[in-house]
Amino acid sequence: MNKARDPGIGETSGETRGGELPLVSNYIAGRVVPAGSERRQAVTDPATGRVRAEVALSSAADVDAAVAAARAAFPAWAATSPLRRARLMNRLLALFGEHKMELARAITSEHGKVLSDAAGEVERGIEIIEFACGIPQLLKGDYTEQVATGIDNWTMRQPLGVVAGITPFNFPVMVPAWMYPVAIAAGNTFVLKPSPLDPTPSLLVAELMREAGFPDGVFNVVQGDKEAVEALLHHPDVQAVSFVGSTPVAQSIYETGAHHGKRVQALGGAKNHLIVMPDADVDKAVDALIGAAFGSAGERCMAISVAVLVGGAADRVLPQLVQRARDLRIGPGTDESSEMGPIVTDAARRRIRAAIDAGEAAGAKLLVDGRELRVAGHEQGFFLGATVFDHVRPEMALYREEIFGPVLACVRVDSFEQALELVNGHEYGNGVSLYTSDGGIAREFARRVQVGMVGVNVPIPVPMSWHGFGGWKRSLFGDMHAYGEEGVRFYTRQKSVMQRWPESIGKGAEFAMPNARG
Ligand code: NAD
Repeated sequence: MNKARDPGIGETSGETRGGELPLVSNYIAGRVVPAGSERRQAVTDPATGRVRAEVALSSAADVDAAVAAARAAFPAWAATSPLRRARLMNRLLALFGEHKMELARAITSEHGKVLSDAAGEVERGIEIIEFACGIPQLLKGDYTEQVATGIDNWTMRQPLGVVAGITPFNFPVMVPAWMYPVAIAAGNTFVLKPSPLDPTPSLLVAELMREAGFPDGVFNVVQGDKEAVEALLHHPDVQAVSFVGSTPVAQSIYETGAHHGKRVQALGGAKNHLIVMPDADVDKAVDALIGAAFGSAGERCMAISVAVLVGGAADRVLPQLVQRARDLRIGPGTDESSEMGPIVTDAARRRIRAAIDAGEAAGAKLLVDGRELRVAGHEQGFFLGATVFDHVRPEMALYREEIFGPVLACVRVDSFEQALELVNGHEYGNGVSLYTSDGGIAREFARRVQVGMVGVNVPIPVPMSWHGFGGWKRSLFGDMHAYGEEGVRFYTRQKSVMQRWPESIGKGAEFAMPNARG
């Protein structure tokens, strides 16, 4: 591999110049700094298979530097009024709007998703920044006067200190934005450890944070892998960790972080079902399945990977579904006509192919097989076609395990009760959707389903920024959902103050518990 050079912050787009690969580095205390670590990982463009940059894999010493910068910035930032913090968030909001397409292009070039989807991702991130602009309202506490004679009691929420975010490859702008706007607006300082597969967007965000006027050290980025994560989890100055990624890593981060005394929210993997009732509008249900199963090549934690076809729905849905899956336009994300881009890496593509092989071997009926897809002119890209299985049974790995690719498993059941039982019996509980024209069934479903985010005639029910995002069961470890008011609670702790002024003192020492009469 070619030797890499350290870029300036504006030079992180990853273009190869003069035979040198750009190096995507860290952002600490307001500056792009080369990592001390010599470890590197290639960053590829999934549409071409070409290496476009290298990313530094930070060491514990690099993490120390980022945490030290965040720690140094914390006292002044925590003492800054919420209104002033909100005003900087407002500037960031405007800058995100101005640079939306630049961010989207950076996502597409390293993740591969189609540009319109990448722009949609940025838009959903912008909504969280918008939410964080309301922080003065969100932080105002509760007050009770005269809890006893001359005594008032109030509660307030204070920031924790240095908090860290560890994020997955599949939403390199949106998922970090579930975290840092709320954390920073609440008065914390932040260290982000993005996925090494698509590290550039986080440096573009750092640039926008600087331009918005956030003080140095309030937002920092350490690139890296497990080594950097371990350093964050063990660091005594990191007070809380937000994680989003696969379930085994989420569980281990939750346990290790908690063991080291940190507050942790760890969002994990998913296997999201979409139930189609016999009375559903078939065209709308097929539209929903195609978009939610194959959008972003199925690399979304809210992607639909299981269609539960109830009674007669199967025979009406499947012919259209199969045709639409075969007709899907697959190509580079930069091509406006593409509906689905490539898989993020060749390794991920091999893993998904192996899951399809295993599904076939287990006896599921392969209706559409995407394994051998070739995209003309992009033979080295990591493309895979849409894949649809019918007659998938609950005991198959194809049904139980997260594949995280463009593979839809159709399961046939006889009744709504069987469909609900299936969903509720799954180890994951991230998202779920029901297509029906019966309001009574819809209500029953929303009430009884054991899943954190529920859609009725909505395929991907990602909650709005003020509602909060989180799954149930093995899709979330920890008590608080991301963003929304739960996010504000996660990044702050409550303090209760009880106060009496000298005029009311004079009774001498008191040895009984104060109460409402006193
Ligand atoms: P991943 O678990 O491989 O990586 C997530 C983060 O953890 C990355 O920053 C990575 O560098 C780090 N990491 C990886 N292995 C580690 C290890 N052994 N120890 C410590 N850190 C480690 O996930 P991914 O492949 O980047 O993302 C896809 C996964 O994320 C899917 O399972 C998907 O469902 C999940 N996801 C969940 C949500 C949600 O909200 N629940 C949202 C997006 C993605």
